[in-house]
Amino acid sequence: MTRLRILVTGGAGFVGAHLCRRLLAQGHDVICLDNFFTSQKSAVAEFVGNPNFELIRHDITHPIWLEVDQCYNLACPASPVHYWHNPIKTIKTSVLGAINVLGMAKRTNARVLQASTSEVYGDPAISPQPESYHGDVNPIGVRSCYDEGKRCAEALFFDYHRAHNVDIRVVRIFNTYGPGMHPYDGRVVSNFILQALAGEDIEVHGDGSQTRSFCYVDDLVRGLMAMMNGPAGFVGPVNLGNPSELSMVQLAEEIIRRTNSKSKLRFTPARSDDPHQRCPDITLAKSKLAWEPTISLAEGLDKTIDYFAKLDLSLYKHPTQRV
Ligand code: NAD
Ligand code: UDP
Repeated sequence: MTRLRILVTGGAGFVGAHLCRRLLAQGHDVICLDNFFTSQKSAVAEFVGNPNFELIRHDITHPIWLEVDQCYNLACPASPVHYWHNPIKTIKTSVLGAINVLGMAKRTNARVLQASTSEVYGDPAISPQPESYHGDVNPIGVRSCYDEGKRCAEALFFDYHRAHNVDIRVVRIFNTYGPGMHPYDGRVVSNFILQALAGEDIEVHGDGSQTRSFCYVDDLVRGLMAMMNGPAGFVGPVNLGNPSELSMVQLAEEIIRRTNSKSKLRFTPARSDDPHQRCPDITLAKSKLAWEPTISLAEGLDKTIDYFAKLDLSLYKHPTQRV
């Protein structure tokens, strides 16, 4: 195996820490760059001391000079409650972050993978969503700081590729969950599990008929690495997600069942611009990368519930004030 120098921006985050672990296990030289906005150092503490691991506190909105062979650009708050905390900073992170990693890739000839999102499809008019669908995003809505930031980052990736032949890969990640999630991440799976374990009401936004499709983190990380090391010339964008779709009421009921909880559902006002449905068409990932998820929601939820049940919440701080 060739040992590569691999930069993971946002490497202390939920997906990033799993990715660093896999890359280190393969013997690569891993640089984890993070400003710890939605993560904390404890997420990567297990790697400190590994001679192949390096941790850099840095904000990706500022340029950084590093020599690397590959870069996974994951730095960006991903949970709505956190990306709303400072929406302008969220856009800067996506756009300036993309410019900075693309500039680095241009200078060092590194291959750079962008963690884009199903949010580029906005509130989709068709389902499941194929990569050819251009989306329906409200450009001035509350989610646009994230959605349009990620769309602009995709545009930058493809323009650097066309103009400067930068070696890019673009993946569109659908909702991902699993052990390692920050307990105060604020996304639906962690919220519902914590509420169910505590026997508290489960807060469902709107009528709970909106759907999502949840991918277990190990499947996603395998997909990210398959795309980074995939066929020459296949730059994407490619959807990575688990097509098994369910409503938020169904998710809450499944979590109540699996935790054996007495929690009840409590319905709160719907969020503005909350997509009504989301389900990936993964035909392209299957054909180009021979990738598809292998872990069912039931199996993934049990592992995630087990993780949260054992977590010492006193070791975590809220990344932003509670909303
Ligand atoms: P996360 O919030 O757990 O991790 C993001 C990491 O980026 C955190 O460690 C955070 O501190 C860091 N970060 C944020 N702003 C930064 C900045 N300006 N400079 C340096 N570091 C910064 O989120 P995640 O779930 O691990 O998501 C990782 C990536 O995947 C994100 O880009 C996200 O948009 C994308 N994605 C994730 C999902 C999902 O369901 N997990 C879905 C779609 C897309
Ligand atoms: N949601 C919910 N209760 C929560 C958190 C989220 O009902 O405590 C809903 C949210 O309105 C959305 C879905 O669950 O319809 C997924 O939300 P999340 O914040 O996880 O991510 P999104 O897919 O919206 O980016």
